Amino acid sequence: MERALVNEFIELVSIDSESGCEAELAALVMNKLRDIGLDVEMDDAGSKFGGNAGNVIGRAGEGDPIILCAHLDRVKPGKGIKPVVENGIIRSSGDTVLAADDISGVVAILAGLREVKKRRPLPAVEVVFTVSEETHLQGSRHLDYTRLRSKMAYIFDGTGPVGTIVTSSPTQVGFEAHVAGRAAHAAVNPEDGVSAIRAVAFAISKLPFGWVDDHTTTNVGVLNGGAATNIVCDSVRFKGEIRSLVESRVSELANEFVSIITSETEAHGAKAEVLTKVEYNGYTINVNAPVVQRIVEALARIGIPATFESTMGGSDGNIFNANGISSIVLGTGCQLVHSTREFIPASELLASAKLVESLLVV
Ligand SMILES: [Zn+2]
Repeated sequence: MERALVNEFIELVSIDSESGCEAELAALVMNKLRDIGLDVEMDDAGSKFGGNAGNVIGRAGEGDPIILCAHLDRVKPGKGIKPVVENGIIRSSGDTVLAADDISGVVAILAGLREVKKRRPLPAVEVVFTVSEETHLQGSRHLDYTRLRSKMAYIFDGTGPVGTIVTSSPTQVGFEAHVAGRAAHAAVNPEDGVSAIRAVAFAISKLPFGWVDDHTTTNVGVLNGGAATNIVCDSVRFKGEIRSLVESRVSELANEFVSIITSETEAHGAKAEVLTKVEYNGYTINVNAPVVQRIVEALARIGIPATFESTMGGSDGNIFNANGISSIVLGTGCQLVHSTREFIPASELLASAKLVESLLVV
């Protein structure tokens, strides 16, 4: 089974599927789901954000279903992936990501369903393969939730070994600031200018940065401004984010950021406009919730210890939970994701597939 998993993994990562360009991979996994015996459709999410494919939804069985979810897209550089298998480890050839994030999840779900199907009719299940997860969770954001009946979802998209259960994830607020100064010749009449760059430097130096507390991070990640060295810069734009597992901290810090940026830039003669936006809401699932109990039992049946974690990352789980589907994220064993050093042990693919099987056979 491990051989077959590795082969299917290689087949799927070899198809280009960067965010927004998942059509070819989506068509292939739709056929695979149909071959296993699911009813399959694609929603029209892609058309809402300019992607070439929608989310793939597959269904089977009678009764109360659960969702098995993974995402079809991958981050850049994710084109022309040529995986290398060595001593049971699959890595990329070094110039692209491997896309184990999140083909490990896709392959585990397909293989797990096939194993179940060999022995019995498929139980109630909804498979959701989302698109453009890596670009602000656009696929799950635009998913047509009226098409789903499940009340719980397992998202096979976590770092950490199989057995890792992510029960909480932060709220994220993004902010974008535009600071206006006044242009002047930097060497003729600099006294007539107001440097937006200087004002922004003062403002950013006052912002809480990095780990603000044990549950909270902030960052300024993009900054643009200025046209030439001989012009006092009159316009700077910068953006960043605030994340916290404690929801109230996010709004507190967002207010603090707006007030620091506004007052500090004003103190240096410039004027700031700051916009904030909730990117996604966090969640914390109680360890006694049915969605957690079912996975803990499924892991116990296959002899894999369960470990609980919180993450500082967002995932489709944030959007599913916000849409009333109790969701947790599961580690699939991929490591150093979002880098060209990404790798996954083949044994972890097998463990995830067994977990899918165990989840379905209750
Ligand atoms: Zn992912």
